[in-house]
Amino acid sequence: MAHYLLSAEAAFSASHTLPGVDLCERLHGHDWRVRLTVRVEENGLGPQGMGVDFREIESVVKETVAGFEHQYLNDLEPFKEHVPSAERVVQVIYHSARDRLRKAAPHVSVQEVELWELPEYRVVYRP
Ligand SMILES: [Zn+2]
Repeated sequence: MAHYLLSAEAAFSASHTLPGVDLCERLHGHDWRVRLTVRVEENGLGPQGMGVDFREIESVVKETVAGFEHQYLNDLEPFKEHVPSAERVVQVIYHSARDRLRKAAPHVSVQEVELWELPEYRVVYRP
């Protein structure tokens, strides 16, 4: 089925430690980058010809990661049980963004969330 994929990005700086993982065991930080991609069906465009306003996606992704800014991720509630590996962080971002998007733009769905830990290292979460 033909559809559109629309994306917006946000960034945050935060530290973490990953016990038992070589160099990552030491406290260190990253400038994380997130891209939220949403899906709109071809027949789902509004009267202005848009599936969803980019600013809406941008608000959702920015609000989603706002609480991570300048935090030690291991201390945050979502990471009490599971250490904040890039995989866990992107999974938490997905669930939070999905819930926000359901309220902000119920006719679109999250296609995927991408998270860069470094410019060269990216993880993708697809529900
Ligand atoms: Zn790291």
